[in-house]
Amino acid sequence: MKRILLINPWIEDVSAYDYWLKPLGLLYISSALKTLGVEPVLVDCLDRYDSDLLSYSSGSGEKYFGTGKFVETVVPKPDCIASIPRRFKRFGFPEEVFRSKLQQLDHVDGVFVTSMMTYWHYGVSDTIRVVRQELPSIPIVLGGVYATLLPEHAKRNAGADLVCPGTGMKPIEKALLFLGINKSVQPDWFDELSPDYSAYESPHYAVVITSLGCPFRCVYCASSYLWRHFLRRDPTKTAEHIEYLVKSSNLSDIVFFDDAILVGGGFKTLMKEIEHRSIRTRFHLPNGVHARFVDRETADLMYANNFKTIKIGLETSDRALQTSTGGKVFLNDIYRAVDNLSKAGFTYKEISAYIMLNLPGQSEEDVLDSLRICEELGLSPTLNEFTPIPGTLQWKELIERGSFAEDIDPLLLDNSIIPHWWKQGFSLDTVQRLKEAAWSLRRKLSGE
Ligand code: SF4
Repeated sequence: MKRILLINPWIEDVSAYDYWLKPLGLLYISSALKTLGVEPVLVDCLDRYDSDLLSYSSGSGEKYFGTGKFVETVVPKPDCIASIPRRFKRFGFPEEVFRSKLQQLDHVDGVFVTSMMTYWHYGVSDTIRVVRQELPSIPIVLGGVYATLLPEHAKRNAGADLVCPGTGMKPIEKALLFLGINKSVQPDWFDELSPDYSAYESPHYAVVITSLGCPFRCVYCASSYLWRHFLRRDPTKTAEHIEYLVKSSNLSDIVFFDDAILVGGGFKTLMKEIEHRSIRTRFHLPNGVHARFVDRETADLMYANNFKTIKIGLETSDRALQTSTGGKVFLNDIYRAVDNLSKAGFTYKEISAYIMLNLPGQSEEDVLDSLRICEELGLSPTLNEFTPIPGTLQWKELIERGSFAEDIDPLLLDNSIIPHWWKQGFSLDTVQRLKEAAWSLRRKLSGE
């Protein structure tokens, strides 16, 4: 039987936190390979509960609901940020742990490495460098979000033998063919397959999705670029999978990472299935739900099923900016959604709102208005600093405007490193002031 090593690479950045980061695409590939008679072997460099890591470090870094701090190692800064006074770190397995795992492997026929944020590409190339040293004759294929959004950059910099851009199962078939395995994944894979958590000794939490993509087209978001069509999974199959995960792995938290979980029906059916099966665990919606779809029945079902995190996408309170960025939310949607959630029994402890910061064309007053709305509604605010994502309309517009060059090192767009990099952006003082206003509102809501 052929064996393929699946690797979730290191993150390299100035900061990172395990806010329920699981390599969902890789876990779907693992399931797909099993159906094709290929054995997957997973090494997740970001698994905080890995037993080799735990025997090496002082603990899992757990903070709340399964989230937590990664083990971090300071590494040399890339040249493009040499003058910035921040330490550059690698998050995940220490190099010795990673190398030892690779050294202990039985033969594999190929390595599939995934990737997430484009500005984490140094972590990807470093991971591939180590794999190349430890498994010198084994072909390495790179896929995932970075490989899809910036394939040419990845070909030049990542060090893989093949870069396989794209989503769904077609890139996997291409990657398998590259390894001499000519097989096709079933076309209805999204309904039939579930992410494969079996390789985790102790997952603690699991990330699942009930849909692919999003029917909206917000100018700053890559969802519709990554997934051309919006697709929902049969809710009964999702409920079955969640029931299996909770019972077999004794999970305490299930996290939905859909881009548009409430869009197009299906969520209420899933909630009723979960209630009917008496699945008792904590549920989380960290990805910013669409306020306009939070009706009273949805809110009641979420309350009955023990949701602990509900992030609502507020983004901006400026009507013109709401419209020009995609029209996904207007203020009356927010008021109605919060009213429904409050009547269901939720408070600021569970509900919070994402507010964009530094969106092109945004004013400081707009952010302050959004904070005022949060205060009025008792919503805990989370400020999200805008990062231009390659391939999005906003990215193209900023390049046309001359804000940065198309071939910029993606690391320089990481808002944790340079939060005010484009000419019309907020000053560092403004960003700091707004962040402090959000912190102070969160403290006030929690009665501190
Ligand atoms: S609604 Fe959300 S997921 Fe959909 S395009 Fe807009 S930002 Fe992206």
